[in-house]
Amino acid sequence: MIAALIEGLLDALAPPTCSACDVVLPPGERGFCVACASLLEPAVGAPRAAFLYGGPLADAIRRFKYGGRSDLAPVLAELGLPAALELSGRFDAVVPVPLHPRRERERGFNQASLIARAWASALGVPVRPRALRRVRDTPAQASLEVGRRAGNVRGAFRVDADIAGRVLLVDDVRTTGATLAECASALLVGGASRVHPLVLARVET
Ligand SMILES: [Zn+2]
Repeated sequence: MIAALIEGLLDALAPPTCSACDVVLPPGERGFCVACASLLEPAVGAPRAAFLYGGPLADAIRRFKYGGRSDLAPVLAELGLPAALELSGRFDAVVPVPLHPRRERERGFNQASLIARAWASALGVPVRPRALRRVRDTPAQASLEVGRRAGNVRGAFRVDADIAGRVLLVDDVRTTGATLAECASALLVGGASRVHPLVLARVET
């Protein structure tokens, strides 16, 4: 009762807005407005991605990563939750793709870790945010031509902790898959028995 009252007051002071376009949402709702929600494209038939990258989802992810909007993490993680839950019971740990420590300091958070935490807690398995370490601060994959991306991340990751069993490898966006492949091979070398990547959004190539 009191909690509902406080929530009502907070909503009145700072009403929840759409994660992509800032339209004010009806009381008690969060995430995307009806117009933006209708433009989200589930990645049907792609078991390794929840959505296709684009439209309002791309806007929300950009705000999340580059606009200091870590408050959007719960909304985005929840959006991908059904895809994660389809993999329930198949993993022993969830590992996010790491940022280089310098970039993580600049941003204040690792977006993949925030998503991985939420999915791990829903799957009932531990999240291992420091299992992988990015040892080279590579240029952002998005800034490179497709043909140069695999070379850009080769050898960029190290396993930094005891890792064993089946790992769900989580990132926010998959472009060519070069980063995920490099992380997966580091995890397998480091002791994982199987690695399955899952991303919130996949860029159609
Ligand atoms: Zn909207």
